[in-house]
Amino acid sequence: MLTPTFHLIGLPTDCNSSFARGPAAAPGVIRAALWSDRGNLAAEDGQEIGLDFQLEDLGDLPLTEATPADDALIRAAVTDSLKAGAIPLLLGGDHAVSFPIVEAIAAQHGPLSILHFDAHPDIYDDFEGNPRSHASPFARILEAGLCRRLVQVGIRTLNRHCREQAARFGVEIVPIADFAPDKVPVLEGPLYVSLDLDGIDPSEAPGVSHPEPGGLRVREVLAVLRAQTARIVGADVVELNPRFDTNDRTAILAAKLVRELAATAARNLR
Ligand code: MN
Ligand code: MN
Repeated sequence: MLTPTFHLIGLPTDCNSSFARGPAAAPGVIRAALWSDRGNLAAEDGQEIGLDFQLEDLGDLPLTEATPADDALIRAAVTDSLKAGAIPLLLGGDHAVSFPIVEAIAAQHGPLSILHFDAHPDIYDDFEGNPRSHASPFARILEAGLCRRLVQVGIRTLNRHCREQAARFGVEIVPIADFAPDKVPVLEGPLYVSLDLDGIDPSEAPGVSHPEPGGLRVREVLAVLRAQTARIVGADVVELNPRFDTNDRTAILAAKLVRELAATAARNLR
């Protein structure tokens, strides 16, 4: 059979961040960590980039921080990737990018199941007057009917407004108290995975704009991911802020998560 092919697409934008700029610089540092001689190209299950699946790096999109125009560029790149028979893996950027990505994927595949790792539910109706804030992408996705099931893992910042939004939209939030990977449902495909690095504990992912203690362990994220059996049609890794990283730890983690996401998606195609 054909080797599964992934397209790595960088989205250097942080104009919809609410607190600190910085994630626009993330795609370059994730890419550098991914291809560095510091590590190799194997995922934990033994599958290797270039042998068991292809990971083609398409570089960064020329985003301009004009949100409607940038959204159109993102949708076009994702659509091209899908039409080429690849699985797009997007490197943020802040989390606002997930909305145009999911718009493009749902246009090809219909409403998606979404597995969302994050400290924050990102379902504000708007945040500080910006409906396209990085605190709001899943509100936009749900309103547009692009998602038939949204499962959130790692959430530990629910305020009253977001609790009301979650109830209104039927968002499934796996409690962080007494968390165990087997409490996360195994979703039906087509599946989209959105991975905000601040879902992981700041001790393992310090390089984020909104560190929130008490988060997921990397091993737990990998266990949740590996339990998923559905066809994965796309994924993003977002919210790395290199300004706050130490010794590239979060960039190295983001690169590992790209490998593991691709390996899981490749396995699920077989
Ligand atoms: Mn987020
Ligand atoms: Mn977050």
